[in-house]
Amino acid sequence: METILVLTHVDETGSALTKASLEAVTAGVELARQLSATLTIGILGVDATAAAGAVAATGARLLAVSGEAFAQPRYATDAAGCEALCRAAQASIVLAPGSSRFTRVAAGVAHRLGGFIDTHITALSSNDGVGATRWFYRQRVEATISRDARPWFLLLDAGTHAPFAGESGAAQVEAVAVTLPTVRTTVEGLRSPMRDAQTIRPDARLLFVAGAGWTKKQPDGQIHVAEAGELILAFLRLSGASLGSSKSLADQKAEGEQSVLPFLTHMNQVGQTGSTPRHAKGLSTCCHGEEPHVVGWRFIGERRAISLDPNCGWTRGKADVVYIADAFQVMAKVNALLEARS
Ligand SMILES: Cc1cc2nc3c(=O)[nH]c(=O)nc-3n(C[C@H](O)[C@H](O)[C@H](O)COP(=O)(O)OP(=O)(O)OC[C@H]3O[C@@H](n4cnc5c(N)ncnc54)[C@H](O)[C@@H]3O)c2cc1C
Repeated sequence: METILVLTHVDETGSALTKASLEAVTAGVELARQLSATLTIGILGVDATAAAGAVAATGARLLAVSGEAFAQPRYATDAAGCEALCRAAQASIVLAPGSSRFTRVAAGVAHRLGGFIDTHITALSSNDGVGATRWFYRQRVEATISRDARPWFLLLDAGTHAPFAGESGAAQVEAVAVTLPTVRTTVEGLRSPMRDAQTIRPDARLLFVAGAGWTKKQPDGQIHVAEAGELILAFLRLSGASLGSSKSLADQKAEGEQSVLPFLTHMNQVGQTGSTPRHAKGLSTCCHGEEPHVVGWRFIGERRAISLDPNCGWTRGKADVVYIADAFQVMAKVNALLEARS
């Protein structure tokens, strides 16, 4: 008989669970139901008890590790907190969001518990025991793993489950005591880029992809890189979309090492040698839609493309809708409509 622990943590407010944590809770509730297993939810954060109300409706046993030591992510304290939650829950299966906070400590915690860990899990099943699905070889091969080793830690990829959305209520929470190790790392503050500079937004509904066509000679025989940059940034500001790039565009460098479009880096690159983001919709612009690029669109729900080329890869069955049009004109019009609406 399995016992399931879902490890969760709070967001930057200190008293609410992150979206990825709520997704892990959904996965835990579903798996516990399928296996008729007992479910425990462990919460880590400065005010973990306050965050518990959001998952009270699960009916799960709720454990919390709270205090100033957990106000900031830090290996020593987070690992000690998660270890204490795992020991209190005595779970055979531990589910956790694959957030940067937990990805950093989960393998260490699994080792302390004498357990085993698998990461990037996208789905769980319960036929003939627990099965965990993940992708290999740059999202080309999907495998379902099962293991006899327990406790088995599974880090879930964000966006693979709906966030738990039960009614908030008063929760009965058991506080778990943690013996803190000597803390050598002090967090002095956070420095984050300006909102406009942060173009990769994993939680956005829309992925906007810019291709090399934005920097190519246009029908007037000229290149219009400055205008391209303004159109792209205006669209990102107005729509809240996340910015992806083709390899050809991300590879382009102007004088020195600065990218032709300075807000683009290889972190934006989507595809075989780039990322495989998850968004409900995607809009590709000035991109040819070649296979090494489109393979990165595997988890995009609805695909649209704007290209001048009626024979581009997108028109060959890789997009749901293709506009054979000039992206400069289309995006200027779209931005004007969005501006008017806002
Ligand atoms: C091993 C390997 C790995 C690779 N990995 C990746 C990867 O991870 N990601 C990736 O992206 N690529 C990858 N590539 C490269 C990939 O094969 C393509 O070369 C690349 O995706 C092409 O980029 P692009 O479509 O932006 O540029 P181009 O092929 O130059 O296409 C530009 C397009 O813009 C259109 N266009 C121009 N002006 C306009 C306009 N005004 N309006 C509308 N459309 C316009 C043109 O018609 C053209 O279709 C890889 C290749 C190899 C060999």
